[in-house]
Amino acid sequence: MRLSRYFMPILKENPKEAEIVSHRLMLRAGMIRQQSQGIYSWLPLGKRVLDKVNAIIRDEQNRAGAIELSMPTLQSAELWQESGRYDAYGKEMLRIKDRQDRPMLYGPTNEEMVTDIFRSSVKSYKDLPLNLYHIQLKFRDEIRPRFGTMRSREFMMKDAYSFDLTREGAEHSYNKMFAAYLRTFDRLGLRAIPMRADTGPIGGKLSHEFIILADTGESEVFCHKDFVDLDIPGAHTDFDSVEGLQAIFDKWTSLYAATSEMHDEAAFNAVPEGDRLSARGIEVGHIFYFGTKYSEPMGAKVQGPDGKEHFVHMGSYGIGPTRLVPAIIEASHDDNGIIWPASVAPFDIVVINMKAGDQACDDTCELIYAALTKAGKDVLYDDTDDRAGTKFATADLIGVPVQIIAGPRAVASGEVEVKDRKTGARETMTIEAAINRFVA
Ligand code: ATP
Ligand code: MG
Repeated sequence: MRLSRYFMPILKENPKEAEIVSHRLMLRAGMIRQQSQGIYSWLPLGKRVLDKVNAIIRDEQNRAGAIELSMPTLQSAELWQESGRYDAYGKEMLRIKDRQDRPMLYGPTNEEMVTDIFRSSVKSYKDLPLNLYHIQLKFRDEIRPRFGTMRSREFMMKDAYSFDLTREGAEHSYNKMFAAYLRTFDRLGLRAIPMRADTGPIGGKLSHEFIILADTGESEVFCHKDFVDLDIPGAHTDFDSVEGLQAIFDKWTSLYAATSEMHDEAAFNAVPEGDRLSARGIEVGHIFYFGTKYSEPMGAKVQGPDGKEHFVHMGSYGIGPTRLVPAIIEASHDDNGIIWPASVAPFDIVVINMKAGDQACDDTCELIYAALTKAGKDVLYDDTDDRAGTKFATADLIGVPVQIIAGPRAVASGEVEVKDRKTGARETMTIEAAINRFVA
């Protein structure tokens, strides 16, 4: 991508409305734009990051055996009347009428709709287990939308829904998502800690919020500090192994971890003092087993091996991609801007032409740009005629992991500089060596 032909509206000044660093940097880097309160456009640079986040989420959902579909944002109120949640949901739900005066709503979540899809076609236990997911916009009319896309009214959610014949089956489905979430957040460069969450009238222990520690987080959290170094399940994890997944779950829930709503002072105090961590956190995911809460009122049942009908046991599993992007920035930035983990960086490399119009600089940059693009890298080529200082500031701000800098003096001796955004380390090397480093 040539910067001269791209759309990346960088802000020079710090936007006054931004209270936290991720919001400020997303606005300054031209990633998002607020369209009305808590409703955002994702501009091209932001869209690239969001797409990469979603690709990792999707990859790990698929690995765990979940199946992707796509459900609409607009839903009929009737489904929600069946479950009883139409009246219960309150003002967070955006209610709409169509031209025939039929009550509709902009979905805040999809339990009812997916249960409807399930009951219309699954009739036998032989078709279970089943886990269906989509990555779709949601709307919740939050009382206090804030911090940019961290807490917005329209936001994206990956929501998965599992269906099982028995509670034991549902536990295995839960453990699959539990392990998939550990892997997902790890690939996004984050350490997310599963913390016991309230299960309400369902009871039991099967609800966890995945929390990232950050000073700007909205939740107060308490946990054992060993969570910081616990091993993440590997890529070859067998998701069909009931014992294997149970062992992962047991390991990751053996240490104390709770948000303030579930905090047990006495249990926390039993953790040796030096191992206690009390901090603030951001909820990036939430998984929940809720049994037959929806299948009973909505009549979602299958025939079991005993020939009788059984209401299915369900769970739901959410991740917020549009919250994850700012959460990653909260965890990874410095005074000059964002520092993207390579897995979600909008571009892999930025090539900076320090003197556009100078034949040798232009030729060198074109050569590098073409070679790296051909090798499958996402390359941003800063071919604008801005001052070198502006270009460096922009490159640091948008956080691309590697900068290849071509200035007239170095280029005259066949060299360029390669800068690592994270460490700031710079290395001078031949043009060929710079290309080879990233092509290999
Ligand atoms: P919160 O406690 O932060 O309001 P929630 O518990 O209502 O969130 P869930 O229903 O568990 O959220 O939704 C699953 C995931 O969707 C959350 O873990 C979060 O990542 C994301 N999410 C929820 N609400 C928002 C929002 N208003 N803006 C952005 N992401 C959100
Ligand atoms: Mg939640």
